[in-house]
Amino acid sequence: MNPFALLDKLKTPVWIIRPSTEEVLHANPAALALAAGLSLADMRHGSLSACPHPALSDYTPAILAREQVVEIWTIRQQDQPQPLCCHLCWLDMAGTADAILVEASSPAASMPSASAATITDTRPEDDFHRMLMQTNSAPMLLIDPADEGRIVNVNEAAMRFYGYSRAEFAAKHTWEINAQGRAILPVMQQIAQLPGGHKPLSFVHRLADGSLRDVQTYAGPVVMHGKRLMLCVIHDITEQQRLKSELEQAALRDPLTGLWNRRYLLQQLERAILEKQHYGHSFSLILLDADNFKRINDQFGHFTGDEVLVWLAHTLQSRVRAADSVCRWGGEEFIILLPQTSQHNALHLAECLRETVASGQTTPLPAITISMGVAQHLDEESVESLIMRVDNALYQAKSSGRNCVIAA
Ligand code: GH3
Ligand code: MG
Ligand code: MG
Repeated sequence: MNPFALLDKLKTPVWIIRPSTEEVLHANPAALALAAGLSLADMRHGSLSACPHPALSDYTPAILAREQVVEIWTIRQQDQPQPLCCHLCWLDMAGTADAILVEASSPAASMPSASAATITDTRPEDDFHRMLMQTNSAPMLLIDPADEGRIVNVNEAAMRFYGYSRAEFAAKHTWEINAQGRAILPVMQQIAQLPGGHKPLSFVHRLADGSLRDVQTYAGPVVMHGKRLMLCVIHDITEQQRLKSELEQAALRDPLTGLWNRRYLLQQLERAILEKQHYGHSFSLILLDADNFKRINDQFGHFTGDEVLVWLAHTLQSRVRAADSVCRWGGEEFIILLPQTSQHNALHLAECLRETVASGQTTPLPAITISMGVAQHLDEESVESLIMRVDNALYQAKSSGRNCVIAA
């Protein structure tokens, strides 16, 4: 029996997801009806989505520690994007050690109407609020969700960060500083209904000088003068994001040639196989190896050998399409992944590359030649088997005298 069958009786939309692979293990009928054919990735990364982390697996420690985790997903209703507030928690069931339960609130619930709030600093509670706003070094915005996110109050740090004076802020709404503009209003209304205390959500905010910053906002309800307002604490993570993407890039590049490395190629191969299963696009691989490269090093020295490898990398890169991935597979071996390419076209490209390299017209460096194996991915074939076939073809090219192309 399906262990999740009981969930099908719930009116609340519920998904069970494996965080490590982001595979949906189960979606109850209410969830399926809401998703209306959208994939998990579509909903988590839609135009109105706001998530504390891009990958679900990043939540594992927080969820295990029973922290409140909330994400805003994007669904479509009457062909319009709508935000959907989702609560994430750990699913502790025998046999599903790695599963997150996602429970959605009813979509697009409207805000209770309330008259606009105004600040009149006359009550004792205001002293506390004023102190909180003035002494905190994190930018803070007090907003009125019932009045399109009008900015009711800001602290000094917010004025410094955004570059607006208090008077300028007084005439603004949160949607005017969010890069999404008014489209963010329904998202803000969803957040305003949360009890607070959840992980911060990520947004892009625009400063007075027009520049964009990646921010995380901690938002929680505060009641002032009988009005339910929202206090947003802003954390600028632009620099962190830049370093993170630089590190991610560095982890996938070969330092000598700047080409993609083996790790990236293996990821892309897995992806190409999935895309082929979904869309039926076939792809091919070229494995190429510099001929007698040891002699280049022996004759001209290792540094010249390095320069030849860099020239070879640039030559390969300049001859392929933008969608193709050229990777340094190891020492003097390279793999080119050619999406949506038949074996026939891959062989044609390989032959052009062979001629270009052998003619060596664009370099004063020592002449080299390359040998290549070419293989088109077969249905149901694993990455290992494809690489083994293309490797065998390369081996045959070497045995056939080098400077040639052999099809697997
Ligand atoms: P074959 O035609 O059979 O491929 O002969 P080969 O000499 O190219 O093959 P072998 O595997 O015997 O030698 C590969 C050489 O490539 C030896 C190694 O020092 C050199 N090599 C690998 N990586 C680098 C590198 O980053 N820089 C330089 N300069 N040489 C490298
Ligand atoms: Mg070689
Ligand atoms: Mg080799």
